[in-house]
Amino acid sequence: MMIKEIKVKSVLNKLKVQDDWFLVDYSVNPFMGCALNCVYCYIHGSKYGGEDTTTFQVKVNAPEVLYRQLKKRARRREYGFIGLGSSTDPYPPLEKDLQITRELLKIIYRFKFPVNVTTKSTLILRDLELLRKIDEKAILPPKLGNKLRHGVIVSFSFSTVDPVLAGIFEPGASTVEERLETMQKFKDEGFLVGANLMPILPFLSDSEEELDKMIKQMKDHGAEFILVGGMTLFGDKPSDCKVRYLDVLKEHFPELVPKLKNCSGILLHLLGLISINWLY
Ligand code: SF4
Repeated sequence: MMIKEIKVKSVLNKLKVQDDWFLVDYSVNPFMGCALNCVYCYIHGSKYGGEDTTTFQVKVNAPEVLYRQLKKRARRREYGFIGLGSSTDPYPPLEKDLQITRELLKIIYRFKFPVNVTTKSTLILRDLELLRKIDEKAILPPKLGNKLRHGVIVSFSFSTVDPVLAGIFEPGASTVEERLETMQKFKDEGFLVGANLMPILPFLSDSEEELDKMIKQMKDHGAEFILVGGMTLFGDKPSDCKVRYLDVLKEHFPELVPKLKNCSGILLHLLGLISINWLY
């Protein structure tokens, strides 16, 4: 994947209404595209992946732009959770040297905003102490202030707990075991942690038995909430997520291709939203 540096005018996106699932009012994505390259990822073929899906774009001026934008919001006391990594993982391997996500977190801390970080990478451990400071100091929006006692939510994403399947469909992510251990570590350190089981893999990780297994493993590793979602596939270009997913399926599970194609419509298959379980 090629890497390109870009400059942006805005990096803080304000949602029209608070997201009921992730509790966020804002989103921030330090990168355009995602270096973790999960086969099923909806950004391939959507505006979030950028025009050129072979290029990973780094928003080099994101920290200074966020500083400006958050300063304004803080002055007006428009506090709300910032979703970090809604359309890119904030901890790709490059982040180790770039430290853009880390700079963004420092600014989020500076202006006392709460944050929901979603990742499939163990690199988040590097920022544990910084996240702890945000957790303690963040000002929560009034709607959540008396229910949630945390300024940080740490969410780990899984589409399966089978290491072989994860290796096929999430080639750039930390292993399932590493993610589970990292979740446990954050829990032990006193954070609010949970799991996003999104997307569940049709015919591979969506049986009752598999789902029970996944939910048990999440619970055993400290998850205080679990969000479960289905897979959305679309597009007919080679770089679009539907074509990418079917190609990989053809290679590894050819018998599933006709089954998947029989699923209705453009949104291929699955459960939709099957469970939200917030345990405050
Ligand atoms: S980590 Fe998330 S954003 Fe990145 S490729 Fe995977 S699903 Fe997409």
